[in-house]
Amino acid sequence: MFQAFLIKFAEIGVKGKNRDLFEAALAQQIKYALRRCEGQFAVRRNRGRIYIEALSDFDFEETVENLKTVCGISSICPMVQQQEDGVEKLCRDVVAFVDTQYPDKQFSFKVDVRRAQKNFPLNSMELNALLGEKILDAFPQLRVDVHDPDVWIHVEVREKVYLYSTEIPGPGGMPVGTNGKAMLLLSGGIDSPVAGYMVAKRGVKIDAVYFHAPPYTSERAKQKVVDLARLVARYSGPIYLHVVNFTEIQLAIYEKCPHDELTIIMRRYMMRIAEQIAKKTDCLGLVTGESIGQVASQTMQSLAVTNEVCTMPVYRPCIGLDKQEIVEIAEKIGTYETSILPFEDCCTIFVAKHPVTKPNPGVIRRHEENLRDGIDEMVQQAVETAELIVAEV
Ligand code: ATP
Ligand code: MG
Repeated sequence: MFQAFLIKFAEIGVKGKNRDLFEAALAQQIKYALRRCEGQFAVRRNRGRIYIEALSDFDFEETVENLKTVCGISSICPMVQQQEDGVEKLCRDVVAFVDTQYPDKQFSFKVDVRRAQKNFPLNSMELNALLGEKILDAFPQLRVDVHDPDVWIHVEVREKVYLYSTEIPGPGGMPVGTNGKAMLLLSGGIDSPVAGYMVAKRGVKIDAVYFHAPPYTSERAKQKVVDLARLVARYSGPIYLHVVNFTEIQLAIYEKCPHDELTIIMRRYMMRIAEQIAKKTDCLGLVTGESIGQVASQTMQSLAVTNEVCTMPVYRPCIGLDKQEIVEIAEKIGTYETSILPFEDCCTIFVAKHPVTKPNPGVIRRHEENLRDGIDEMVQQAVETAELIVAEV
């Protein structure tokens, strides 16, 4: 029954020329999401609003599901579209709309008319009153409530008439592409896909790096990360995933450094390598799924020691979230089910029984000296031989 959508977006801080870029990027991301849907659509920008019109049959559920992944959309309003042909027809259309949308006539309502067609005989105020009256005539059990209605009946009179009353929430945030690019350290866990989503939601394009340690980590563990990247790509657009072979470095650390410091030293090398790839690919920062205190390598002391090797800003959008809060976001964005699949990751295989929770930066630096012979070459080799996989939906 719906033939069009009104797309609402928030970010009131975005003004002037930036607003135009914001809208253009949003329209582009909408088109990208619609390409995944059956049917033909036209996306139009009109005075600070974006309209999607279906030019053919389409699958409503599928279309809404895909629009819900477009960062920058605050809500999606499915609209019924009618020919504009005078006041009488308008009244009939509005009454029919209320009837079909709300079989159960137990609610209060308010009519909200926007009239772009200035040659229309009645102004918005007059139309609000008239349409309210017609709805009450047709369905006397309804009530008008102008302060806190259960249902808004929105009517837009333009070259056509558009009617809508429901708003489906979108992700909010800003369209991807309006805020530069970042390198996500993507593991097979729950947290890093959420971190990637949260940064993408602020308009940041995402590249990713995954540290793979074959044969200690299997092909299936890698495939799981590719699958996660694809799921995040629903929101972020295509992700260039760099798969780094980390085995040699991990074995070197395992042989030459104290075992209770393995994780922290390994994390430092991950950051160093991620940063090198980030610089080569014009990323402006690194993103991880770390959260204060979650595990030994994420105490404040450990984070400080990990952070020490980075010169780029490191964004940690999950930093203040509890595990349960992260899980809720993972479920909402559809990554949770994949994240909990039980494949080994390199951190769990080489993990010590009692990892340090308060690493001393001086001590860690001294123990990294044990790797002096060959580590720079290994890092170089890891960066140069990284496999590139484009993850998209
Ligand atoms: P996650 O659920 O994201 O795996 P985690 O709670 O398991 O996080 P750690 O394993 O300590 O935490 O990793 C902390 C962060 O380091 C991850 O969120 C991720 O950003 C990065 N990371 C860890 N392992 C890898 C890996 N193999 N490849 C890429 N990034 C990784
Ligand atoms: Mg992990």
